[in-house]
Amino acid sequence: MLQPNPYDVLFEEVQIGPVTAPNRFYQVPHACGMGHLRPQAHAAMREVKALGGWGVVCTEETEIHPSSDLSPYSEQRLWDERDIPALSLMVEAVKRHGALVGIELVHNGHMASNLFSRLPALAPADIQLDDGYPRMARRMDKSDIRELRRWHRRAARNAKAAGFDIIYVYAGHDMAVPQHFLLPRYNQRSDEYGGSLENRARLIRELLSETKDEVGDRCAVALRLGLDERMGADGMQAHEEGRAVVELLADIPDLWDVNVSNWQNDTVSTRFEPDEGYEVDQMRFVREVTGKPTVGVGRFTSPDLMVRLVRGGVLDLIGAARPSIADPYLPNKIAEGRTDAIRECIGCNICASSDKLGVPIRCTQNPTMGEEWRRGWHPESIAQRASDAEVLVVGAGPAGLECALQLGRRGYRVSVAEATGEFGGRSLRESGLKGLTAWRRVADNRLYELSQMANVRLYRESPMSAGDIVETESAAVFLATGARWRGDGTGRTHFRPVQGLSDIAVFTPDDVMAGNLPVGPVVIYDDDQGYMGGVIADHLAGKSLAVTFVTTASIVSPFTTLTLEQHRIQSSLIAAGVKLVLSSKLVAAGRGTVSTADIYGGSRDEIACTGLVLVTARDIDRSLSAALKREAPDLCVETIGDALAPGLIADATFSGHLAARNFESDVLETEAAIYRREMPALPAVNTL
Ligand code: ADP
Ligand code: SF4
Repeated sequence: MLQPNPYDVLFEEVQIGPVTAPNRFYQVPHACGMGHLRPQAHAAMREVKALGGWGVVCTEETEIHPSSDLSPYSEQRLWDERDIPALSLMVEAVKRHGALVGIELVHNGHMASNLFSRLPALAPADIQLDDGYPRMARRMDKSDIRELRRWHRRAARNAKAAGFDIIYVYAGHDMAVPQHFLLPRYNQRSDEYGGSLENRARLIRELLSETKDEVGDRCAVALRLGLDERMGADGMQAHEEGRAVVELLADIPDLWDVNVSNWQNDTVSTRFEPDEGYEVDQMRFVREVTGKPTVGVGRFTSPDLMVRLVRGGVLDLIGAARPSIADPYLPNKIAEGRTDAIRECIGCNICASSDKLGVPIRCTQNPTMGEEWRRGWHPESIAQRASDAEVLVVGAGPAGLECALQLGRRGYRVSVAEATGEFGGRSLRESGLKGLTAWRRVADNRLYELSQMANVRLYRESPMSAGDIVETESAAVFLATGARWRGDGTGRTHFRPVQGLSDIAVFTPDDVMAGNLPVGPVVIYDDDQGYMGGVIADHLAGKSLAVTFVTTASIVSPFTTLTLEQHRIQSSLIAAGVKLVLSSKLVAAGRGTVSTADIYGGSRDEIACTGLVLVTARDIDRSLSAALKREAPDLCVETIGDALAPGLIADATFSGHLAARNFESDVLETEAAIYRREMPALPAVNTL
């Protein structure tokens, strides 16, 4: 007899105003670096979510007017009806699979610098633009407010014409004018839009009513609200004004989409919020107060927690951005009882970095993310093998495991040889550092999948020499042997080894990850400027070592600004008692001391220490590939992952995936295939 699925409740329909969601899986609006510049890529990426079982799939932010121009970031645009066809691509793609499709209309106020449109930004008051561009946003007068309402109404009308089912009023993440009016620190007006909460919420109320009036016959109207700003009494607090706003507007929206503001507080990495559901306490009351369908997020990947939230009356719809990126097929896997196969988000926020860089989204766990249209990749399917070739993957880090997994899915007979006693490479090593436990999921997920495949064999404690490899008689070999951190100080700043390193105990991140720790006061020299230096500092400070962090950058771990973590990292190091020496380079090391120089002024300093951890650059050992070239010049050998070019774990999984797709493929990665581009249609004759 068929067992009932314990997660059936997640597959119930939910009525949202005039529309019905086919299940409770709701992909909330999330940035993806595609936006109005890449409508086909965008439609294909969202379509895969609908295929994977998400009952509602939403856009990212959609600008409603040129005075909310987020350039150089590519978000969606619905300035006027000319934008409808591009958005309709997504609508049609998502609806083909029975999901509802939502659009997040937004006016960003002083968060948009209008660098493309060059219009003045708009805000409740004359305030500085948020992104550091030295221009001010203009205080909106009554006619500006009327205009904004007109733009929103027009955008809602056009969104309905494009076929959207759920239309948002956005007042979250500190990114939207309606929320800026709500917050007393921005809104100190004395007119009917300022002062009391009722007045500060007036604009939201008007936008909700007008959107309902314009499209409410066929479309649901959602309010996305930041309930709490995690600023204590300096900002909105969920259990005070946050609750009061929900009480004030309770019945007006058809759907409450609630979260914590700003984006950095909502999309928190596992390093700083290890547990899923970390926003639940702030949103628990909403459903009770409103009685309306409620969706909320919190990096949900556990179906048991999802069921508890639904049955406990906290949420009607399980919201997800990152879990839907890491595994677009999460709902289908739950429906099919394949929960072990869920590719769990590791909370590294590399996806967020793509938006901040203005490039199509990428994901550490899901290498197909962002490549659905450009490369035609699908997260769950791949071309079958072209021959009976037996292949060997050397090294079981993220690149090797991903490559083996995809080759295995293609049906090849695959052997994986790993030198050490454990599979997982750097994802396992790095997961032992403070705050990075979840990163081992990169290995765990792949090892589970590989364990289900009869055609893949994994061998531990199998260091391979060129001779060993030749002896396997494999038809093709993928070298995924990784890279090691350098111990000589060369990196961004020094192109030659630093003087005096033999006089002091030198460590690399690999030593620290292997448990070989310095004793006594330690200097960490970070010239890599990625995440590793800050993680090592945090890790060693947690071992009660006196840590001085010297970096060539002017802030700690500047790369992590892109992963929304930088402010937390710098604060946490200060809180842990780490002494920060910024904008300084290592000049030399000696017995019990290191010398530094200020990068701008040149002034020198000496820091007493007994150990020095160098986080500067990585080194590739190419001896194995060189020996293979000599001993078996005709063997098909491809180097992948960090052994090819050390980078992020996301780069390694991508590299492994790419190599497996390309192996014996007729769709070889020609330049045209890689760079399938969305070209603007040009007039036949230049009319200038
Ligand atoms: P990547 O990120 O590219 O996957 P990693 O450093 O995470 O790189 O993984 C490389 C893996 O390769 C490590 O687990 C390492 O032990 C293994 N390895 C390195 N050289 C050999 C070798 N000659 N034979 C087998 N395994 C190797
Ligand atoms: Fe999760 Fe990292 Fe993928 Fe983003 S990039 S979805 S945080 S695994």
